[in-house]
Amino acid sequence: MMTPAPPVTEPDPSALICSGDLVGPCSGCQRKTHKYGRGGSPLCQWCMAPVMEKWGPSVRYVKTHP
Ligand SMILES: [Zn+2]
Repeated sequence: MMTPAPPVTEPDPSALICSGDLVGPCSGCQRKTHKYGRGGSPLCQWCMAPVMEKWGPSVRYVKTHP
């Protein structure tokens, strides 16, 4: 199990180690995350975790509708 997600006001750790112009809001919870460019993801790690479990690490895009 992962640790519970911090409040959405806390940026994803990935946002702290990438350059600021690659940071954007998570598609799920709107927290700041490394969204753009190489290695970016539309979801923060907490939103991505259940998706990765279901689809595997190769998932690139996540639709927010069912
Ligand atoms: Zn999120």
